[in-house]
Amino acid sequence: MTPNRLTCEETFRRLNDYLDRALSPEEKRLVEEHLETCAGCAREFRFEMSLLDNLRAKLSRIDIPEDMLARITRRLEEARRECE
Ligand SMILES: [Zn+2]
Repeated sequence: MTPNRLTCEETFRRLNDYLDRALSPEEKRLVEEHLETCAGCAREFRFEMSLLDNLRAKLSRIDIPEDMLARITRRLEEARRECE
């Protein structure tokens, strides 16, 4: 059972999955709907998106183990929690 709307907290929890394209189409739609109506989460989303883009761009230029990106992503997530 998927809720019709997401709170900011629920959106935050799905943000990494969204960026990793790991959400179901329905959840993806809910996140996108929230981002359209919530300036705070939209800003956070753009911030994370640019971080990950930078990261991927850098990592594609050097040879780095597969799981390192996952570890860095997790570290970013932890850092964000500490800021809340
Ligand atoms: Zn929000």
